[in-house]
Amino acid sequence: MPKNDIERFVLDALAAEGAAMETLGYGLTEVVIPQALALVLQVPPLMTLVFDSEAHREAPEAMLVTYGHPLVDALIAYTLERHRGFRFYVHLDPHDYAVSAERVQSLLGQTLEFRKTRKPEVVSMVPIMGYDFSFRFRVAWQSSSRVEEVAEHLVDSQGNALSSSEYERTFWHTEPGPHERDLPTMPPRPFAHLYQKVRQATEAEAKARSKKLAESDRSQYDREYQRMQTYYQSTLQELKSKMATSSNDRRSQVFQERYRAAEADRDRRLADLRGAYTVDYQIVLDHVLMYGVPRMMVWLGLQQKAEHLSVPVLINLLTRTLDPFPCQVCSMPARSLTFESVWVGECCYQSAD
Ligand SMILES: [Zn+2]
Repeated sequence: MPKNDIERFVLDALAAEGAAMETLGYGLTEVVIPQALALVLQVPPLMTLVFDSEAHREAPEAMLVTYGHPLVDALIAYTLERHRGFRFYVHLDPHDYAVSAERVQSLLGQTLEFRKTRKPEVVSMVPIMGYDFSFRFRVAWQSSSRVEEVAEHLVDSQGNALSSSEYERTFWHTEPGPHERDLPTMPPRPFAHLYQKVRQATEAEAKARSKKLAESDRSQYDREYQRMQTYYQSTLQELKSKMATSSNDRRSQVFQERYRAAEADRDRRLADLRGAYTVDYQIVLDHVLMYGVPRMMVWLGLQQKAEHLSVPVLINLLTRTLDPFPCQVCSMPARSLTFESVWVGECCYQSAD
């Protein structure tokens, strides 16, 4: 199991804000935080935190902090607020806000399909401020060698992956620009939701990498395993024949004991060998950056038989691309949508035709 990085994040963030802490054992950490911080985070200034539900059963009076705990949300919001350097805004020109209906249609044509409806009509457009988040993790793999890398994920306010190349080329400001200052904002999903999505993606990548690293160690592992097996096979065989040819029970018993000891020894050493070649990984959240990037919210009018539907899509005004449109069943980005009281993507749609 990789180390609980919610624990790392919470304790690191609290320590950075002047908390004093002491490890009490059984996974408990006692934390004393400055009164002002306690007020902002809406927690008592003296808390005993636990990050693991099993440990929490042993100490039910401690505060169990996991994904989705309000303390985690409050801490990230506070950290973002305090370290203004982690918030960035793009400054757009007025012409960046001009999006033609033709442009909308061409973007839709390239990336999104509404099935069983007439061609969508652009009903209205309104610019809003969107927030995107870049999560940076440090990922370390440990087996016979150690590899460490930074994994970065840029997601929109729904936690869907965005391509980061345009963001890397952009000159960012720490305050919203004159055209962005008064835009209505689109509130992002709770941090814990975003975090969990990104964490899952990072975890999947780390796992895939672990497998690759394990494969590259495979032949060396096989050689050592074979060598050990051969050694114990001959040792055990030898003891077996000594047992069979023993002249008395006393001697036979001694060999029997040695046989059992050798078996136990073999099992232990093979387990050690497996352990040494298992690729463990550790994921630690390093930091989160927030990007304020305006979107054009485009309301589309769709007609399905006699029914009129209206649906918003978002155009990222920095990248000039359509934001991922999440399937309303599984929230994965979808390309092809069918309306069945909610918009169902190709991921969840059971085609009847
Ligand atoms: Zn789906």
